[in-house]
Amino acid sequence: MRALMKIGKGEGGIELRDIAEPEPKDDEIKIRVHAAGICGTDLHIMKDEYDVTPPMVMGHEYAGTVVSLGKNAAGFSVGDRAVSLTTVRTCGVCPACESGQFMHCETRKAIGTHVDGAFAQYIVVPAGKALKVPANVALDEAALCEPLACVVRCVVEMSTAKAGDYAYVSGPGAIGLLALQVAKASGAVVAVGGTAADAERLKLAEKLGAAATIRVDLEGAEARMKDFTGGAGFDVAYECSGVAASTDSCVRALKRMGSYVQIGLYGKKIPYDFDLALKKELSIHTGFTAAKTTWRRALRLLEHGLVDLSPLISAKLPLADWEKGFDSLIRKEGLKVLLVP
Ligand SMILES: [Zn+2]
Ligand SMILES: [Zn+2]
Repeated sequence: MRALMKIGKGEGGIELRDIAEPEPKDDEIKIRVHAAGICGTDLHIMKDEYDVTPPMVMGHEYAGTVVSLGKNAAGFSVGDRAVSLTTVRTCGVCPACESGQFMHCETRKAIGTHVDGAFAQYIVVPAGKALKVPANVALDEAALCEPLACVVRCVVEMSTAKAGDYAYVSGPGAIGLLALQVAKASGAVVAVGGTAADAERLKLAEKLGAAATIRVDLEGAEARMKDFTGGAGFDVAYECSGVAASTDSCVRALKRMGSYVQIGLYGKKIPYDFDLALKKELSIHTGFTAAKTTWRRALRLLEHGLVDLSPLISAKLPLADWEKGFDSLIRKEGLKVLLVP
């Protein structure tokens, strides 16, 4: 089968290769990949800004159909539509595993970074790490359940937006537009900030329910944020761009004792005025991964129409055109690109 692989450590080193189809071990299911999304993490992997163990097939955001099962793989049948967690193997005995937070297992293995991922025609994963896709959810949308689950982790589990809270989303990329929708589903009144380069994305944010959009590169942006919140500042801010300037503007936009939530990944160390956060007594939250319960919640949001992923899919390309997809995301064109193996 054809597979998009990271061949070795260092920058670049991404190649389309012909490899043997994987066969499921006793506890695994084999899934024919319908489509797989290119993630910011994949761009970090390309730039050698993310810890990976090559050679491995890249891709961790996908949905597909079960085509075969190992003899102990329970809960699935051939033909079931499925997604899976990214963390597929853990030690099972460390304190993190014991507490159910197996995503924090020191020896965790994740698809697309440590073991073979979804930029290929087939993937095998343990049945216990997979979930069925609700009947009314299209596989294209289900392919983006992973970024949605990561956002649910940050917005619902690691921090909470309450009904009537003023929430600020900095960075209207795919993750920001998901944070907007999940915060809105939680009852928050959401404003989304971006720059001139984000003009189209800010329009989409309005369509997806933002109460206001704010061009942070224009004069008077801070005053507009203050006005929007009646002078007090935001109750909660979600940093979704992984850019130092955005972190700064989130800290400034928050009210005293507000909640700062880091969702974006920087890929490097950043300079940061922590004193202002301290003086405001902000609560700092982060989130990086997702438990199986998080995924169930994400699928429920899709099933009941509380989050709409379809406007986030800007292109569907054959796997062979992966470079086009990566390039368009580097140039900040479009939101989510699906590769079809
Ligand atoms: Zn991702
Ligand atoms: Zn463990």
